Amino acid sequence: MKLCLFCFTLVLGVMGQIDAVTPNDALQRLKDGNQRFLSGKRNCKINYLAELEKAKQKQIPYAAILCCSDSRIPPELIFDESLGKLFIIRVAGNIASDITIGSIEYAVEILKVPLVVVLGHDCCGVLIAGLKGMQAHLPPFVNDLLNQVSRSVMETKKQSDDFSVELPKAIALNAELQMQELLDKSEVLKEAADSNTTLFKAAIFHFDGQIEWCPCTGEKSPINPG
Ligand SMILES: [Zn+2]
Repeated sequence: MKLCLFCFTLVLGVMGQIDAVTPNDALQRLKDGNQRFLSGKRNCKINYLAELEKAKQKQIPYAAILCCSDSRIPPELIFDESLGKLFIIRVAGNIASDITIGSIEYAVEILKVPLVVVLGHDCCGVLIAGLKGMQAHLPPFVNDLLNQVSRSVMETKKQSDDFSVELPKAIALNAELQMQELLDKSEVLKEAADSNTTLFKAAIFHFDGQIEWCPCTGEKSPINPG
């Protein structure tokens, strides 16, 4: 009986090793998926119902992605990924609030994701509104979003007063600052980063379909005056 229990444990251990994805493997998987998206050679064989059947007892995502709610950046599409693989938190401005940090702590501590990505994007409306100082014209809860990106806006404005320069810089800076917020506010996430069990990366999605991994210049970003 003891032998059987040992074998069972061994099998589970081996299965765990097979399932384990390293942080760098996870990052490469996202990069490969984005390349397929860019080349138009997306994985057409994905059977979503079959993937759900496989994952219905347990999800094993390999990356958590904090990204904007913007309708132009659905992560499963731009990374050409199936169901059960990406743990996604979407909020306008890809903001690291207590609530979004809680979701990422869940992904890291409970689901053991090896990679966390904070994904900004070209022409982000929250940053456009912040740079243009539109607070007085927006509903109060939208202003709460603007408050959460105010540091990115202020830091950017120290460097430039030209909107066409400011916007790409603010978008890049915001992705990096929100990622830093995750680590500054959450001991759980800081420990995961320090122990190298989870890799934290900021990135920008450009509207030519490419992902620019930070440190980002934002120089590829097109300018949308709002
Ligand atoms: Zn946005």
